[in-house]
Amino acid sequence: MKKVAFACMISLSLAGPSLAQDVWVTVDNDVLNQVQTSLDSSYQTIHTAQGASLLKLDAQKVESLANIIHDKLHRCGGFIAHESYQEAFDSISYQGEMYFSKSVAFLNYKINQQKAVNSMVPQLEEMKIREMIIKLSSFKTRHHKSQTGLESTQYIHDEWKKLISHRTDAKVELFTHRGTPQPSVILTLTGSESPNDILVIGGHADSLAGFFGGANSTAPGADDNASGIATMTETLRVLMQNGFQPKKTVMFMAYAAEEVGLVGSKEIAQQFKQENKNVLGVIQFDMTLFKGTADKDIVMMTDYTNTAQNEFLGQLIDEYVKVPWGYSRCGYGCSDHASWSNAGFPASMPFESNKGDMNRHIHSAKDTLQNSGGNASHALKFAKLGLAYLVELAN
Ligand SMILES: [Zn+2]
Repeated sequence: MKKVAFACMISLSLAGPSLAQDVWVTVDNDVLNQVQTSLDSSYQTIHTAQGASLLKLDAQKVESLANIIHDKLHRCGGFIAHESYQEAFDSISYQGEMYFSKSVAFLNYKINQQKAVNSMVPQLEEMKIREMIIKLSSFKTRHHKSQTGLESTQYIHDEWKKLISHRTDAKVELFTHRGTPQPSVILTLTGSESPNDILVIGGHADSLAGFFGGANSTAPGADDNASGIATMTETLRVLMQNGFQPKKTVMFMAYAAEEVGLVGSKEIAQQFKQENKNVLGVIQFDMTLFKGTADKDIVMMTDYTNTAQNEFLGQLIDEYVKVPWGYSRCGYGCSDHASWSNAGFPASMPFESNKGDMNRHIHSAKDTLQNSGGNASHALKFAKLGLAYLVELAN
């Protein structure tokens, strides 16, 4: 029955003229309700399934959608942009798999690398994270269609390359996308014993600001998400300084074009799925700078993430970071971890605060280091967690 109904839907929607500038996006019910009141009639709801809806949208309106979600629902993301109707349709039709995969144990989660982690954690430096945030937020914008968006991505590539220059088992590459001119940056440390098993640490490289500003608005994105990139970079620096040689393969990823519908991470995760790559775990750092919740330092998002891995991260925080932590929900497509969950891989998203307490300056010229307290001491906790995650799971 379902299949027949779906087939009718496809033929109906494809029957009409399809303009080249239309895009397909998927959103949840909260966003759909908001769109109905905030966006003009240029969108069409095509299909709804399992709490998510597929909208056809004028390409010009994608950034308006991002800003409506940010302004009205106080979310950093909130939708996924797709390359085709079919891809969008599949993504909401099979989202049930994301929920069902939540309790599957992908790894034998066990803490047994105390010696290595405890010797490296004290070497992580707040000042190094701060310097990287200052550098990244000094680009006028890292908008995925801007020249400085390209330059800032190249800067991340070059910084990572310096950190691995002494290693023959490591490489850093630009991943070219179909959906954006901005490339993602992928650094690979090849595993010494089981190179086909992969762990991913990632965050998005782009920034966004202003309702209609697009590529011309000033978008320092210090918290969103220079902080996540800087956090990962400091983890990488200390791992390399200590000659870390993982048994499994470790990949660092700076994703392109997250702010316009998880474009970069979605292409990468889907390619990994098609190539049957064995991704054992993904950790996402998107906003680590602003301490918004008084009694919690690290907050794990429970939706579109893997429960077993989230619980293990909690154990890692207790063991190595020793700060209070908790859980919150961030909504549909709120960051790149959703791309990995969507592709069937276990992902987690440790975040700066409860969703309701997050930095209100993001997506504006006010997302500066100064407006997040002027230093990176909050982000340092996430660098410790990232380091513990990689050393424990890659060995
Ligand atoms: Zn973000």
